[in-house]
Amino acid sequence: MPAENHATPLFSDLQLSAPLLRALEDAGYESPTPIQCRMIPHMLAGRDVVGQAQTGTGKTAAFALPLLMQLRQDKRVQPQILVLAPTRELALQVAESFQQYGRHIDNFRALAIFGGQDYTVQLNGLKRGAQVIVGTPGRVMDHIRRGSLNLAGIHSLVLDEADEMLKMGFIDDVEWILEQTPADRQIALFSATMPPSIRHIAQKHLSSPVEITIETKTVTAPTINQRYLPVNGYGKKLEALQRLLEAEALDAVLIFVRTKLQTVELAEALIDKGYACAPLSGDIQQANRLRTIEQLKSGRLDILVATDVAARGLDVERISHVINFDIPFDTEAYIHRIGRTGRAGRSGEAILFVHPREQRMLGAIEKATRQKITLMAMPSARAINEQRIKKFKDRITTALDGDLAVFQSILAEYQQENGTDPLLLAAALARLSQGERPFLMVEAEPRRERAARPAARNGEKPPRRPREEGRTPRKAITLPTDEAMERYRIEIGHRHGVKPGNIVGAIANEADLESRHIGHIAIFDDFSTVDLPFGMPGDVFRLLQKVRINERPLRLSRLDSSAPEMKKSPRQGLRERKTAGGKAPRSRSRNQDQQPA
Ligand code: AMP
Repeated sequence: MPAENHATPLFSDLQLSAPLLRALEDAGYESPTPIQCRMIPHMLAGRDVVGQAQTGTGKTAAFALPLLMQLRQDKRVQPQILVLAPTRELALQVAESFQQYGRHIDNFRALAIFGGQDYTVQLNGLKRGAQVIVGTPGRVMDHIRRGSLNLAGIHSLVLDEADEMLKMGFIDDVEWILEQTPADRQIALFSATMPPSIRHIAQKHLSSPVEITIETKTVTAPTINQRYLPVNGYGKKLEALQRLLEAEALDAVLIFVRTKLQTVELAEALIDKGYACAPLSGDIQQANRLRTIEQLKSGRLDILVATDVAARGLDVERISHVINFDIPFDTEAYIHRIGRTGRAGRSGEAILFVHPREQRMLGAIEKATRQKITLMAMPSARAINEQRIKKFKDRITTALDGDLAVFQSILAEYQQENGTDPLLLAAALARLSQGERPFLMVEAEPRRERAARPAARNGEKPPRRPREEGRTPRKAITLPTDEAMERYRIEIGHRHGVKPGNIVGAIANEADLESRHIGHIAIFDDFSTVDLPFGMPGDVFRLLQKVRINERPLRLSRLDSSAPEMKKSPRQGLRERKTAGGKAPRSRSRNQDQQPA
């Protein structure tokens, strides 16, 4: 396993300070991602940079680490780094990352300020002081105007997900803020795409920026069947993994995670469940790594949980499945990972777990590999039980080949004494061997829906109750409780004579979706909501918009807690939800904002 044959980049080669290296060690990061390797040296040299990278590439650390290296030790804690982000979620996430990387820096604080949050909380935070401010443009602008955010000490500015800020109509605000910052500040601009207006901003405000694009090689892997499973959060990933390990016809499995810590945690969780599993990361001595791989080859181990670095060059024919528990940082890593299966002319299975925020990376991978990655559903209890029964029968067949003489005579004696039916006797023995654990899986009942309206989860003002609620008091629009599902609104309700069966029928036929994948349906007076599997492809979405029931088009739109109108207070919504051209959208265009890619 020639991990050492390839030059593995190291954080320690990037001239980062000891407190930062310690924080990276705490986080369990093994090596810098491609964008980190390429961007950090330029940013440390004080250059402006333009990075074409999306979420999931490790872009936050790519700018946060070099900027943290430039912090001044001021007597009074005041803003030195300003990050603009399109959404509150991203602002919070970036502030948390700064806090994580800066944890060993004395007196360090990062603060997120965003629309929808109470001003008092933010004013208190700003008064207390923070070296890093991460905010959404509208709110940052408000604080600058009120005088509560002083930009005099800012030496670095980051525009994160600039194309998203453009789409959400923030670009004028961004330019205004840029003009308020000191002229000699360093700027890093990140954008997954480079539309002309973003290019224009880069040309106007950045000084001879270094442009960094993570190139992708195109490699086709025709013997590998590629699928993805939408999952929303760690718990769902773990559940999906366990179900896959039972439902798929597996030989050996390689599971990829992001950090060294996770290799250990996940391997331990699987060992607890009875799997022959081991972690594989750069923390493990080379000799031990080789031993682990030999054990996988010989069948003493069936599962390895690995980081990209540790699995480099891994060549074990019996790997039937590669499971990307965490999505890779770039498409090249993906291609390398899945190439660990389908070796020596065999076929292989590659499964990718995709979080909502990672949809773009999924698209990038499909583009780079020029292969469609097909959507798969979470294996059902029925599929798992079929496998359990099959494996149980196989075990009986194997046991029948063994030496049964002793048990045979004991059981013959038992039968004579009690006259028990032999089949019943066999069932009792099976029960003994199973112990108290239930043999068959029962599909968990969907959790009871919470009465809270969607935005309440984010601590923001909830959107106005729909008028229909007045007439059907116990029904509220909520988000689905099953995280593998998304809730959609369709413009047909009681008043149009719709029944759940019509909705199931129309969607199942048009989207070619089995009806069991269609979840909860709620019918209101003028419209209805329906839960559909997470990650609906754009073409299916467009198709379903046009489908008609009782002559009415469904005009499907997604209800999503991260959708701008679910999160913003009405006042803010009007100002912040401008279109790129600066006009407030008509309500129809809100639906367009929410279209899946
Ligand atoms: P980002 O693209 O910045 O949203 O990062 C995606 C995820 O990767 C985050 O959960 C980070 O904590 C994680 N991450 C960033 N850099 C590394 C690294 N070098 N090794 C492992 N995980 C990382």
